[in-house]
Amino acid sequence: MIQRDIDIKSNDNTLFTTSQCNNRCIMCCQPPLVTDDIEELYKENIKRIMQAPKDLPMIGITGGEPTLLGEKLISLVSLVREQLPNTEIHILSNGRAFQDGEYTMRLAQAGGEKLVVGVPFHSDYYKDHDIIAGCKGAFNETMIGLYNLAGAGVCIELRIVMNALNYKRFYSMAQYIHRNLSFVGWIAFMGMEYVGYAVKHSKNIWIEPIEYIPELTSAVKYLSEWKYDVNIYNIPLCLLPEQYRRFAQKSISDWKNKFIETCSTCTHKHDCCGLFSTSIKPYEGLKSL
Ligand code: SF4
Repeated sequence: MIQRDIDIKSNDNTLFTTSQCNNRCIMCCQPPLVTDDIEELYKENIKRIMQAPKDLPMIGITGGEPTLLGEKLISLVSLVREQLPNTEIHILSNGRAFQDGEYTMRLAQAGGEKLVVGVPFHSDYYKDHDIIAGCKGAFNETMIGLYNLAGAGVCIELRIVMNALNYKRFYSMAQYIHRNLSFVGWIAFMGMEYVGYAVKHSKNIWIEPIEYIPELTSAVKYLSEWKYDVNIYNIPLCLLPEQYRRFAQKSISDWKNKFIETCSTCTHKHDCCGLFSTSIKPYEGLKSL
């Protein structure tokens, strides 16, 4: 995999650490590979950190599953913190490795205050979470991981990738978050990219966003009334009722974002996330506002 240069003008500067993963998420947009790539990518990423602009606002660390790097992940985070002291570090992880409290604490210390870990939460029902993660026991390990991250003072972004298997539980997931995970920094409801496993498993998991808007808005309403920071990622503004558009973010990375013909006359284009250029078809129901 060729990594793009770190560019201060981009909204997506990422260190890709491995194609390997210990989950097999049913809607993974970038299906994992069984390949020995950690060492090579580690060396490449060290060079990229050393060459990065010192005033870079944010750097992502992703995979695959970055915690499969073990100690090397702590070394990478330490190097970013040393070279780029003011840069926010955002790690995307399935959270399972953070069931190891000591490892979590050392990672937290390496990252310092500006460390955020994004962790997926697929369902409040453990069996559904495990099915979506493609791994038995994932729910319990991720929950322990979330508590360890919070205990180590790490800011957590809780990510809910919306799909046909979990959308009916959005409201009960919101209640579960309030009762059990109230320490999270923010919650992101995320539209699915229609690529990779999402296409392969389309019959089981694909659902058009327009079909789950009522469940999404009821969960967002609940969480916002309890004063959580709640966000909607990857859903175009025209699919959301007007009063919920303020929760939507321009979340799609600049290199894989596109607008279609319908958008050319839309007055909301500047504030809209648009569509994934990587998805093999646009969402249904788009209309110029
Ligand atoms: S028409 Fe296009 S630009 Fe306008 S809200 Fe919909 S997706 Fe966004």
